[in-house]
Amino acid sequence: MLMYFGTICIFRSIINSQIKFYRTLSNQSKIIKIVEVAPRDGLQNEKKILSSADKIKFIDKLSDTGLKYIEATSFVSAEWIPQLADGFEVMRGINRHEGIIYSALVPNMTGFKKALDCQVDEIAVFGAVSETFCKKNINCSIEDSFKRFTPVIEAAKKANLRVRGYVSCIIGCPYEGPIHPRKSASIISRMLTMGCYEVSLGDTIGSGSPDSWRTLINMCYQEFGIPLSKMAVHCHDISGGAAAIDNIEAALEMGITTIDSSTGGIGGCPYADGIARGNVPTEDVIHKLNQLHLNTGVDVDKVLDAGNFICKILNIQNISRYASLKH
Ligand SMILES: [Zn+2]
Repeated sequence: MLMYFGTICIFRSIINSQIKFYRTLSNQSKIIKIVEVAPRDGLQNEKKILSSADKIKFIDKLSDTGLKYIEATSFVSAEWIPQLADGFEVMRGINRHEGIIYSALVPNMTGFKKALDCQVDEIAVFGAVSETFCKKNINCSIEDSFKRFTPVIEAAKKANLRVRGYVSCIIGCPYEGPIHPRKSASIISRMLTMGCYEVSLGDTIGSGSPDSWRTLINMCYQEFGIPLSKMAVHCHDISGGAAAIDNIEAALEMGITTIDSSTGGIGGCPYADGIARGNVPTEDVIHKLNQLHLNTGVDVDKVLDAGNFICKILNIQNISRYASLKH
């Protein structure tokens, strides 16, 4: 028993000294990048189908908040995601601001051609760590998913477009349960080797804790040599606010500087059978970063305004804690 506690103490002190080390790293670069995912990851999981005009208005509002990266839509088959069937019209209709990256999710070469036609700034590809989730989500094995996006990444390189990667279920899977961090780290590493400049680590069912996030980031950085600047955190909430924000704070302490979030907290994961409540709200992320004196250049009240706008149209509540603070 004593030996057991001794081991825990040694483990804790290693983790603590590493956190101090990462804090030093993170203090060197205080600009935090927010990747706004509401128009794509958010809307794709909302039942009410919106008009293209409303989506365009929403993205235009987001463009006025100070956000520098907006994932505007996806070019997946309309059969898969009817909500985003008008990706082309939306990309063409928005008022694009200088200095903002407007990206789109692309699953295959058909989608890539559409993305190229409407001059997206970047594309994103997606994969998963869990074999079962991958099968249920994109109907193929993990190995086949890599085969699918290999030509997309190659084509993007030729077109001088940067590629962002998404990996689902990095901590837990709705079908397979807890996922070993080494398994996640190897998929993240592989996506980077293939040509993604950054990989978004998706906690699809919101099962992560600050400790499991620290362990995963540590594994990626220490054992796989993945630079902290190449990882983004994508947290889902299970209970409406606290969990995802705590996980983000842990990731920031480790030196992560890119955070995915969704204005109004819209979206979530339809495959998680309602366990995950939704994407972490951008309002709450900005509010937390402001409290930590970490600069994003984003006006939280303008984000709240955009969040209230989209939630009203979707006929849902803005689940951000910041919204309830302002009420
Ligand atoms: Zn998400």
